Amino acid sequence: MQLLDGKALSQTIKEEIKIEVDKRIASGGKRPHLAAILVGSDGASETYVGHKVKSCDQVGFESTLLRFSDSTSEEEVLNAVQELNNDASVDGFIVQLPLPKHINTEAVINAIAPEKDVDGFHPVNIGKLTLGLETFVSATPKGIITLLDRANVKTEGRHCVVVGRSNIVGRPMSILMSASSKPGNATVTLCHSRTKNLKEICLQADILIVALGRAEFITGDMVKEGVTVIDVGITRVADPSKKRGYALKGDVHFDSVSPKCEFITPVPGGVGPMTVVSLMQNTLRAAEEK
Ligand code: NDP
Repeated sequence: MQLLDGKALSQTIKEEIKIEVDKRIASGGKRPHLAAILVGSDGASETYVGHKVKSCDQVGFESTLLRFSDSTSEEEVLNAVQELNNDASVDGFIVQLPLPKHINTEAVINAIAPEKDVDGFHPVNIGKLTLGLETFVSATPKGIITLLDRANVKTEGRHCVVVGRSNIVGRPMSILMSASSKPGNATVTLCHSRTKNLKEICLQADILIVALGRAEFITGDMVKEGVTVIDVGITRVADPSKKRGYALKGDVHFDSVSPKCEFITPVPGGVGPMTVVSLMQNTLRAAEEK
């Protein structure tokens, strides 16, 4: 079993980005600038945005965090999006999800200018992704593809099972794995909550990508020998032995699954850091394309 160490790889990629940024500055270019809109005080969202801001510092980007309270109206958020769309100093921006329930997430995402949508959530960018055109690939799927690529995991002709069909992880992941590209060229099965015989399908997977948000859902009896497992899930599970009162668990029961794996991502330290560094790559690209 080999660990796919997203933490170590993300550090390497951050150093690569920093070199590009230094070159840009040395040749008179502008520092890439990422902005983030954070609405409300969800603990996990605070943590994720914090990682993104810190990563901007590490790679030499400018960052701006726009904070709004839980009671902020949809109109105020849409106004902030318009301001960022029109702000020439901002290369790309994200709206941290989930938004409070009274705000229509789709309306907010649709308002983002596609050329600044470094999260790759806008329908234009998802459409381009589906057609195999150059675009901002959303950060988590992009990070997984990079992880597979740099570890030389063979995907061509293999059966990839994706569990979860969300627009930000499972769905784009299934499209990328089936694309005519490397990594890609896999035969893909996309599973969700209405899938029958999930265990039988998972047992057929050469590559199993799990993004459903249920702690330790995939157990050793659901995977075959030699499988590669990508665990996207991050769930906070109460753990009084921890100082912060909770432990982070993946969707995969690591102890029973990992002995059967050729490759597996840990949680934490697998997909999470790759997601953040992919956002940095998208932001650099947005700056370069301007
Ligand atoms: P969503 O809740 O949006 O989607 C979950 C998906 O899982 C849905 O498609 C749902 O099916 C499916 N599902 C739920 N229960 C089952 C089940 N019993 N059997 C089969 N399928 C099921 O989640 P996200 O995609 O946003 O996130 C998934 C996990 O990944 C979460 O833990 C999240 O925190 C984590 N995450 C981690 C990131 C990282 O950087 N590491 C980034 C983004 C997310 P249906 O569509 O039918 O409801």
